[in-house]
Amino acid sequence: MSQQLTLALSKGRIFEETMPLLQAAGITVSEDPEKSRKLILPTNDPNVRVIIVRASDVPTYVQYGAADFGVAGKDVLLEHGGEGLYQPIDLNIAKCRLSVAVPAGFDYASAVRQGARLRVVTKYVQCAREHFAAKGVHVDLIKLYGSMELGPLVGLSDAIVDLVSTGSTLRANNLVEVEHIMDISSRLVVNQAALKLKRERLQPILEAFEKASKAG
Ligand code: ATP
Ligand code: MG
Repeated sequence: MSQQLTLALSKGRIFEETMPLLQAAGITVSEDPEKSRKLILPTNDPNVRVIIVRASDVPTYVQYGAADFGVAGKDVLLEHGGEGLYQPIDLNIAKCRLSVAVPAGFDYASAVRQGARLRVVTKYVQCAREHFAAKGVHVDLIKLYGSMELGPLVGLSDAIVDLVSTGSTLRANNLVEVEHIMDISSRLVVNQAALKLKRERLQPILEAFEKASKAG
């Protein structure tokens, strides 16, 4: 295995919020992924490079060792299953929560109490299935890849399960949060083989990340 380290990140909040952690490890990325079309970005360290992938693809790159480590949301890791991944650190970045929301005026509590079959749109099918099963609520889950808020507005569903941070997207679409499923933040994930074979190179970076994420 080469001693080159490849870090998988997604554009946007994960990239931005990981930069200070990388800085703490003495690594700076030389190009801005929002401006560059390159998918492989060099850093000031010739032995470390960053690859830019979809947020939900980070665990896959790391699982197969195409990236040695990466940063992924707990939501993404739960849907992926975490196979082949070592998850040593909660980086405390990209914080939000996974919630159930319904149109304002929809009586969620009674619908649940009466054992009605709820139609729910979500990108987070695994998490949603577990949540409703644990509560004994019967649901028909409909998988979407984005704009979940639209589902109830056009009669596709009664409810949505989605990530919420400020709640402004829900408010803009006249939806209200009725249940908090779990808190979400992003984790560092490491390929299990790389952890053993590249330990000397990885360890100082992991330690710097851990320290910086606790301080931040
Ligand atoms: P894509 O935009 O490519 O479809 P995505 O929506 O999963 O993918 P991001 O929006 O960058 O990508 O989200 C990445 C991670 O950040 C999510 O997996 C989640 O853990 C977290 N996240 C999502 N939305 C928010 C939010 N509004 N506030 C804070 N963190 C969030
Ligand atoms: Mg998004």
